[in-house]
Amino acid sequence: MTKHYIGCLGMALLTQALFLSPALAQPGGDRPEPPQFQAPIYIDRPQWMDYETPQSEPLANVSKRVASYGEQSYDIDTLLYNGTGAIDIVVMGDGYTDLEQDKLTRDAKACTDHLFETSPFDRYKSFFNVFVLHIVSPESGISHPGQWKQETDSTGRMVCPENSPLPIVNKKTFFSTHLDGWGTHRIIGAWGEHKAKDLIRLYFPRCKFPCILCNTDEYGGAGGDILIATCNRASSDIYVHELAHVFGDLADEYFGGDVYMCEKPNLSATRDSSRVRWARWLDDPEVGVFPHRGGRIGSRYVKPTQASETSRYCKMERLDKEFCPVCRERLVEAIHEQVSLIADALPADTVLSPLKKREKMTFALERVFEAEGDTLSITWSIDGQEVARDTRAITVSGRQLSPNQTHEIRVEVHDASPFVRNPRCRELHTQSRTWMVARRR
Ligand SMILES: [Zn+2]
Ligand SMILES: [Zn+2]
Ligand SMILES: [Zn+2]
Repeated sequence: MTKHYIGCLGMALLTQALFLSPALAQPGGDRPEPPQFQAPIYIDRPQWMDYETPQSEPLANVSKRVASYGEQSYDIDTLLYNGTGAIDIVVMGDGYTDLEQDKLTRDAKACTDHLFETSPFDRYKSFFNVFVLHIVSPESGISHPGQWKQETDSTGRMVCPENSPLPIVNKKTFFSTHLDGWGTHRIIGAWGEHKAKDLIRLYFPRCKFPCILCNTDEYGGAGGDILIATCNRASSDIYVHELAHVFGDLADEYFGGDVYMCEKPNLSATRDSSRVRWARWLDDPEVGVFPHRGGRIGSRYVKPTQASETSRYCKMERLDKEFCPVCRERLVEAIHEQVSLIADALPADTVLSPLKKREKMTFALERVFEAEGDTLSITWSIDGQEVARDTRAITVSGRQLSPNQTHEIRVEVHDASPFVRNPRCRELHTQSRTWMVARRR
C-alpha cells in the first residue's frame, strides 16, 4: 500500500457482524484474540444517536462555552458558525495537554479549512457549523500498543504488527486513542470512544459528525461512528476522506477486502453500463465501470473511477485526488438531506388573519442556506401563479386578492447544483413555505 491509501473501518462498521469475527477482520487469522485490549463493540450510529437525550439548547455563536465530563470542564470554541439548522461538526482533541490547546485550535482549523477548500464542500461552507471541544489529556500524543500476543521481540515486549519504528508506548489520554487498531498500524481506535458519544449526546445532540483529532504526526485514522484523524501532513485529506465515509456513506474505491463489498453510491455489483448506479455520469471521460481488482467477491464489484498518476479522481481511492462526480453528487445530496434551505421565513404563522383591501403584508425569507456559485432560485406564487422571482421578499396587498376567498402565498427555494443529475433528488433540493390568507370584504 502506498502512503495515499488508508484502511477505513468506517464502512466495515456497517457490516459489523463480520467484524466481530477476528478471523475475518484479520485475514489468515487463526491468531489469538488481542491480549491487551478488547476491540470496541460498535453500535450503529442511528441507534446511539436515537438514544434519549436531554435536548440541550442549540449552541449560539459564542466562543468559550463549557462542557463537563466527570469533575472536569472543557472549553468549547466556535470555528465556524452559520446558525441553527446548519450541520454541526464537532472536533474533540485527544492527546493534547493543557499547554497544547492552542495547537488543537490550529490543527482543527487546518483540517476544517481544508475540508472547505475541497469540492463540493467549498460551495457549501455556509451550511456548516464547526466547534472545537478542548478536551485536556494528562499526556501528550497517543498510544502505540502493538497488538498481537505472538508478535513480541526476544525480550517478550509487544511489537507493532507492521513493524513501525515508532516505539511501543501507552499514553494516558482522555479518549485513549491508539494506533495498531485491528492489527493495522495506521488504523486508529479509541478505547474511550463512549466518552465522545456521551459528550456529543449531552452538548451537541444535533451533531452527527463528531471527530476525534489525535495529537500525533503519525499517518492514520478511521471512519465509523466517530471520525478519527491525526496531525500528519496528509491528515487534512484523511479527515476529508473519512468524513465522506461517515457523511455520504461512500465506499472506498481501492480494494480493501471482500468484507467491504456491498451496494453503495460508488460501489455496485451491477456492471452493465446502461444500468450501473452512476450511468448518468458516464459522459465524463474519467468515469467508467471499473472492476475492483482482487478478492473473490471484490472482482464481481465495480466502481466509477480508477485512480492513476494522470487522473483527477477519486479521493475515495487516493487521498491526493478530487472526489469523482459520483461521490461528489452523493455528498451534495447528503448536505441537502441534513439542511433545510429555508431556515427562517416571515410571517412565522402560516395561517394569517384576513387582509383588508388597502392593507399590505410582507412575506420574507429571513434566512436561507445558499450554496456558492449562484445556484439558488427563489420563486413566489399566489394561488399557483408566479408573481416574483429571485427576490427575498414580496409585498402582497389586499387588492391582489379576491374577497371572501382564501389564497395561498407560496415561496419555493431550489438549489440547482450542477453536481446533481439524479432527477429524484430535485425534491430534496427544493424547499417551500406556504401561507394561507383571506381577503376581508
Ligand atoms: Zn476510506
Ligand atoms: Zn504500529
Ligand atoms: Zn468516487
